[in-house]
Amino acid sequence: MINKRIKSMNVSGVRKMFEMASKMKNPIDLSLGLPDFDVPDDVKKEAISSIKKGLNQYTQTTGIKELKQKILEKLRKENNIIAEEEQVIVTSAASGALSIVFTTIINEGDEIILFEPYFVAYKELIIQNGGVPVYARTKDDFSLDLEELKRKISNKTIAIVINSPNNPAGKVYTENELKNLAKIAAKYNLLIISDEIYEKFCYEKKYFSIGSIYPNTLTINGFSKSHAMTGWRVGYVAGPKEIITEAIKVQQFNFVCAPTPFQYAAIKAFDSDITKHISEYKKKRDIIFNGLKKEYKIAKPEGAFYAFVKYPCNPEKFMENCIKNNLLVVPGSAFSQHNTHFRISFATKNENLQKAIEILNKIAKQK
Ligand code: PLP
Repeated sequence: MINKRIKSMNVSGVRKMFEMASKMKNPIDLSLGLPDFDVPDDVKKEAISSIKKGLNQYTQTTGIKELKQKILEKLRKENNIIAEEEQVIVTSAASGALSIVFTTIINEGDEIILFEPYFVAYKELIIQNGGVPVYARTKDDFSLDLEELKRKISNKTIAIVINSPNNPAGKVYTENELKNLAKIAAKYNLLIISDEIYEKFCYEKKYFSIGSIYPNTLTINGFSKSHAMTGWRVGYVAGPKEIITEAIKVQQFNFVCAPTPFQYAAIKAFDSDITKHISEYKKKRDIIFNGLKKEYKIAKPEGAFYAFVKYPCNPEKFMENCIKNNLLVVPGSAFSQHNTHFRISFATKNENLQKAIEILNKIAKQK
């Protein structure tokens, strides 16, 4: 009765913590992957006015023209990616993009390489669509290990997923790393799926999009993180026309279109200034990194709003201690085949970060 692939999928480790948090009394919650600021006012106003104007019906499958034009302009100016209108789909957020992409490209048994640690959805969506996730480990500082990547490529490999800035490690890949990765992908004729949802949360390095040098790339992005629009479900995917043409069919029958009033609001989001939030998040990154670096093995996050920190002791004992102290973090097993680290989200008030640091340092000293 139940599809065996669906049966073999796991419940999200992050969602489990989300449910646990709802049962705890005022936990210090560092488990959530969403910004703690709200949607900018001008973007909210645009959504409300779109609803009032009656812009509430279906749109074209691929999204409204004005938004697609804005996306293409953004990709050209900010990412050096040149694409035409037929190469982009406005999706139900980045998750919607990932969903239609994996459904479109996977044939039973196809292998797709994920760098560890990876965002949970990639693994489960690949399995859902009959593919096989293959895991490539990264270096200690979470930079790409391209020798490991080469070892993982087989005659069944069709694609490599990259996510920079990375969830859960906050790693931002350098232009050089990505150029070398593109050379390997070209040699084996592999598609690259580049999830750039945390692009705006990039604290030091200049952001580089692999789609600017490797045309066989599907670039995925959206507004959930940059504009705190997690509940509005708007994102996009851009890439090779042959793939996008097929993906439009999947979008049509699974989603019809992205939510209409929020597509209009997303046009406004491109012109909304979020730099203040990004500099606040850089400070949060510094608070967490400086607060934990003495007691923990922690690579300084370069982007996103996560740190992936090595357990100071046995993982079960550590998680138990966190819960006893009313602190929620996510075990690394949610993002990796190896339970060696835990994820902290620093997208919360600074006073929560200070409390969490105190608790975590106390736990590390108890080991
Ligand atoms: N990709 C990554 C790496 C994420 O961390 C998330 C959300 O946590 C998503 C995609 C999904 O984002 P959206 O809300 O746009 O579906």
